[in-house]
Amino acid sequence: MSKILIVEDEEAIADLERDYLEMNEFSVTIRNDGVSGLEEAMKGNYDLIVLDLMLPGLDGFEVCKRIREEKNIPILMVSAKKDDIDKVRGLGLGADDYMTKPFSPNELVARVKAHLTRYERLVGAGVAKQENDIVEIRGIRIDKTARRVFINGEERAFTTKEFDLLTFLAEHPNRVFTKDELFREIWGMESIGDIATVTVHIKKIREKVEEDTAKPQYIETIWGVGYRFKI
Ligand code: CA
Repeated sequence: MSKILIVEDEEAIADLERDYLEMNEFSVTIRNDGVSGLEEAMKGNYDLIVLDLMLPGLDGFEVCKRIREEKNIPILMVSAKKDDIDKVRGLGLGADDYMTKPFSPNELVARVKAHLTRYERLVGAGVAKQENDIVEIRGIRIDKTARRVFINGEERAFTTKEFDLLTFLAEHPNRVFTKDELFREIWGMESIGDIATVTVHIKKIREKVEEDTAKPQYIETIWGVGYRFKI
């Protein structure tokens, strides 16, 4: 059930809005002034806020601005004056919609539903983007987000540089890199070291990923050139 906060000083209007929203299966909380409205908006886990513009104490302009600094939930602003609505739009406070009083409660419900659907779609897309970044080649599965490596479903521990080197090669399969290139890529230009480090790390990676290190199936040595991740 979606949770709606109504911040409205005219109690009769607030009650009417609440009744219609509750009839449509929303859970509703009312606050009658700007200060307690803002406080409730910040601490409560609301899905949408219906915010009156003219409020005692802190007005709707300020409440909207402060909520926006912390939360991106839909804010539906209402006002008795059309001029005020135009002013709010002009200020770009980040409200999602505006309604001029008096409005029909059914219209409020319709707009609340539309904004919640839209918001859920946006949040859904956001969650999808947060999925872990995975590189998968044959039996190797590299979870770049969690920095974990699985070989045929079994997790193996890698040091930071081993992980970076394996991931880099796996992300550029079938390309030959010289030890110099790999050293610069993984250890950085500023690093002091020698390219033998690359050889040592390749050996360690092979011990973890290859069934037979004498016949590597993943990281191939190209004699006289460097290494290549076979696809
Ligand atoms: Ca008012």
